[in-house]
Amino acid sequence: MNASKSTIAPIPAGELARRMLSAKAEQFTESVIREMTRLAMKHGAVNLSQGFPDFAAPAEIKEAARQAIADDINQYAITWGAKPLRDAIVEKFERTQGIRVDPEREITICCGSTEAMMSAMMAIINPGDEIVVFEPFYENYGPDAILSGATPKFVKLRPPDWTYDERELAAAFGPHTKAIILNTPNNPTGKVFTRNELEFIRDLCVRWNSFCITDEIYEHILYDGAEHITMARIHGMRDRTIVINGMSKTYSVTGWRVGWAIAPPEPTAAIRKVHDFLTVGAAAPLQHAGAMALKSAQSYYDKLAASYAQKRARLVKILEQAGFTVFKPRGAYYIMTDISRFADPDPVRFPADTKDVRFSKYLVEEIGVAVVPGSSFYNDARDGASQVRFTFCKKEETLAAGEARLARLAEQKSA
Ligand code: GLN
Repeated sequence: MNASKSTIAPIPAGELARRMLSAKAEQFTESVIREMTRLAMKHGAVNLSQGFPDFAAPAEIKEAARQAIADDINQYAITWGAKPLRDAIVEKFERTQGIRVDPEREITICCGSTEAMMSAMMAIINPGDEIVVFEPFYENYGPDAILSGATPKFVKLRPPDWTYDERELAAAFGPHTKAIILNTPNNPTGKVFTRNELEFIRDLCVRWNSFCITDEIYEHILYDGAEHITMARIHGMRDRTIVINGMSKTYSVTGWRVGWAIAPPEPTAAIRKVHDFLTVGAAAPLQHAGAMALKSAQSYYDKLAASYAQKRARLVKILEQAGFTVFKPRGAYYIMTDISRFADPDPVRFPADTKDVRFSKYLVEEIGVAVVPGSSFYNDARDGASQVRFTFCKKEETLAAGEARLARLAEQKSA
């Protein structure tokens, strides 16, 4: 009856991965951070892995989103972003960092800062281009490099204060360096780059004619008097800086996916084209709510930082009591820890190449706490083998539950 059906051979085993899928996509794995959240749910663990708040977003911001939908802001915004949000970004950037940008030619609203970063990379990278990346780094920058076709050169930030070696950094730059990727305040280390450090980086960018793409999503989450300075403010960097930012962390709305890139007109024109064909635009009503959120009074940001300072102190104490070596962050909402003092879990029960992954599996399955293994922040997994990252953007109940479970770890250690 249907003769052709039986003559069509199935795709040979292994053929799909070898020849029919993108070689780029074959080079990286799924996000470990997001996988840890799934594992936390599967094992009923306290989720101290992925950096999203488990508490409510501000009531006024939620109301603004509801209102925008009721007002029928339900169709596409202009592809590079709703005018009220672009205007609000201009106003806020000038108010907080003293830099005035043009909303018509220097801002692109994207689906989260993740897309803003990817669009920025795709907008500037050509074959043969290199990028300098500090490590440990937020894991997205690895796949961003692969997908955009850039060759990353990694430069270590070393604990306890996560400083870089100036000679190592200088040696990573060269004639092919298209950009340095900066993230300040930094995920996962909590480092906040100082003006001196930014100026040293500036000198290298100017010398080698490179961009700086700077992810500043944690700009308002600062401790101990640390100050956030955008690279765009460093003398000589205004026209070679691409600032990536978004609503997610500042307004506790990571699921809204509203982020942006601020860049000079020429890179912005390229970023807008890439963005347009990747996603067309971020959710229109949420962009309108964003315009309202960005007008929040300074007291909102002060309260946010103060609340995170308390949570930081709480988690530092919990982790120290449980036996971790803690590197206290100066910004963002993560704590990198050293796990050298803990025994390496049984590789048969918790199979993995490196200790941090075995330890993270043991923590999520046996202790009931999800963390992110350190190796997911390094190019060479061995470099992160004795580190795991915790986040404290969680309710007091969540931190308390984490404390109770981690106490079992301390008991086992002393037993
Ligand atoms: N930035 C958050 C983290 O590092 C998560 C971001 C994400 O998963 N999209 O945990």
